[in-house]
Amino acid sequence: MTSAAPQPTTIDRLLERYEALLMDAWGVLITDAGPLPGAVALVDHLVRTGHPFRILSNSASRSREESVGNLVRHGLAIAPEHVLPSIALLGPLFSEEELIGARCAVLGPAGSVEEVRRAGGVVLDPPYEEVEVAVVCDESGYPFVPTVDSVVNAVIRQVERGSSVRLVVANPDLFYPVARDRIGLTTGTVALVIGTLLRHRLGPAAPDWILLGKPERRLFDVACEALGTRNAVMVGDQLETDVLGAHNAGLDSALVATGLVRAREVEDWPGPAPTWLLSDLRV
Ligand SMILES: [Mg+2]
Repeated sequence: MTSAAPQPTTIDRLLERYEALLMDAWGVLITDAGPLPGAVALVDHLVRTGHPFRILSNSASRSREESVGNLVRHGLAIAPEHVLPSIALLGPLFSEEELIGARCAVLGPAGSVEEVRRAGGVVLDPPYEEVEVAVVCDESGYPFVPTVDSVVNAVIRQVERGSSVRLVVANPDLFYPVARDRIGLTTGTVALVIGTLLRHRLGPAAPDWILLGKPERRLFDVACEALGTRNAVMVGDQLETDVLGAHNAGLDSALVATGLVRAREVEDWPGPAPTWLLSDLRV
């Protein structure tokens, strides 16, 4: 299947065309160096005009309050309801899958642990014995090798005993762009490591992962439902998460050049093309 080449556009034209704006945070609004050019003014404009928007991030290392605080510290005048990190999907998941009260191993820092508790999980301390749910939220906040070993062996014991175990990765990103020419390992890769070990020992009996966050469509669906429209466009800087996720949800996307994607990656990308190309966020 070929998709049409993305067309250059501006934020103003997107705001005219779409009822709601969905935006990624990292690489679109902020980086380690602070807000990206035009980000503060764009958010001010959206808040002032009441144009519906949500910030959709694959973020599971912070509590929701910490995510909002982080963006506010960067000068973005947002309210808590404007931010939808992937970890916010844990609550609905635990309810739907009847995991309230389940014994959980949580791989992540304090904010992640807080969100698993808020979703209804009972958080265990390592070394793990009877784990019912393993939730991988981040690559930081725990001693990597002993924690991964402990989770893997606990899951193997449970499965071999015939008990069911759920594996959840609350941010499926394999890496994050540290800088234009450097990447770093993140949450999805931790899940890959655990999954590889489980498949080695358990074969087809190894549990499948439940993926929360982009490019799964659920984050987009939750945002559109909250905003009351599916006439929305996703502004992002990554093809594998923002653009593919919007496509999976049946939404248009705009790839912003202020992020870390390289022109060649767009040309070589075998997935669905972004609908639009944005050179910056200026309104
Ligand atoms: Mg990004």
